[in-house]
Amino acid sequence: YFVDPEQMEEGYVTITGDDVNHIVRVMRSRVGDELICCNGRGRDVRGAIEEIGADAVRIRILEEGLPNRELPVQVTIAQGLPKGDKMELVIQKGTELGAFSFCVFTSKRTVVKLDDKKEKKRLERWQKIAKEAAEQSHRSRVPEVGSVLTWRELLATASRFHYALFAYEKEETATLRRTLSEVPPGSNVLIVIGPEGGFDETEAAEAEAAGFRSVSLGRRILRAETAPLYALSCVSYEFEQ
Ligand code: SAM
Repeated sequence: YFVDPEQMEEGYVTITGDDVNHIVRVMRSRVGDELICCNGRGRDVRGAIEEIGADAVRIRILEEGLPNRELPVQVTIAQGLPKGDKMELVIQKGTELGAFSFCVFTSKRTVVKLDDKKEKKRLERWQKIAKEAAEQSHRSRVPEVGSVLTWRELLATASRFHYALFAYEKEETATLRRTLSEVPPGSNVLIVIGPEGGFDETEAAEAEAAGFRSVSLGRRILRAETAPLYALSCVSYEFEQ
């Protein structure tokens, strides 16, 4: 379970909110059962339930310093806002595969329109999915899901990353594999994936001018939701020996 740092004191963790219901009613846990808690800042502990109250579960810490399960590079997936519930799949599976964070953007071929109310609701749902997926895959942190960016805003983020990559099916020479072989552990990497309709040539040129390097994800055209999962799998293969 992920808790705020202040819920983790010396020797104890106090779990509150929706997780209490999950522990008591979904998992049917009892006093003495063990579980893992992370504060999202690298403190992962194993503990045993000592007390179950109406609004809180108190855990006694048994073991500190559990193994870090994060990828050696921090990968942010920027996904062109896809149709339907595909983004949910990207966040759930991308979290299992180790994504550091996600952001969503709109570009010329984006077809979905989100007003502020819908965007707020979607972001809450996506963040919840990230939290649940992080818990089930025993991640040490929950990936953040950033708000929806415009194309221009996305381009301006390139300078915040050591490597800003742009997945482009027309790229013929730079494969993701070759590009990743230049990336040292500890780097942060942004990987941009287009919406269902992809990018046009002007957008590809704008990305390059903004400092993005285009990469191929292989010779086949992947679906918009397959592409980030392929990219994250490649990162894991490259960096986890
Ligand atoms: N029309 C399909 C769909 O509905 O999902 C394919 C969409 S594909 C054009 C969407 C994005 O995935 C592209 O903009 C690109 O970022 C990425 N992509 C897919 N296959 C790729 C490949 N072989 N190399 C590089 N990027 C790829």
